[in-house]
Amino acid sequence: MIKVVFLGPPGAGKGTQAKIIAEKYGIPLIVLGDILREAVKNQTELGKIAKEYMDKGELVPDEIVTGIIKEALLKVNAKEKGFILDGFPRTLNQAKAFEEMLKELGINLDKVLFLDVPDEELIKRMLARGREDDTEEVIKNRLKVYYEKTAPVITYYEEKGILVKVDGLGDIEEVTKRIEKALGL
Ligand code: AMP
Repeated sequence: MIKVVFLGPPGAGKGTQAKIIAEKYGIPLIVLGDILREAVKNQTELGKIAKEYMDKGELVPDEIVTGIIKEALLKVNAKEKGFILDGFPRTLNQAKAFEEMLKELGINLDKVLFLDVPDEELIKRMLARGREDDTEEVIKNRLKVYYEKTAPVITYYEEKGILVKVDGLGDIEEVTKRIEKALGL
């Protein structure tokens, strides 16, 4: 059983890899971006608020996403079954709120996996994926937000000694193997 966060810039392949590993090892997968997109699609109150931010490549407010994550951890019984979390935490504030939440739930985070991919490749990949929020302007803003807000989260976990860095360049299968090795799977 493993409890792990997948971190990395947008377009690094976190989503793809998290899904592969979760399915292969039967680990509950929580993808914050998917939960938000589902809420937007269903036009829930949350979805209406989230859409305003997502359309611009901005981050949805910390209090909102933190609440969603807590609910999701309880729903999948993360304490007993473990989890792979993709898309959270993305700010230092979220990382701190997450730490409190885990303490409260009696959950210990094993590792934070950082998938490393250079910018030029990220832009290429995101333009190729063609998601609704993948226009060039929004992509550039997501990268800017990533460097300003999410990069400090990497340092935070590095200092805690639970960060593992994996090279995200190459074939999907190749990267999966690197991740398995890094997580000791
Ligand atoms: P993703 O699918 O992970 O690229 O996320 C898509 C969009 O959802 C982001 O551009 C943000 O607007 C929002 N989002 C996802 N994760 C978070 C988070 N941890 N905090 C705030 N907003 C988020």
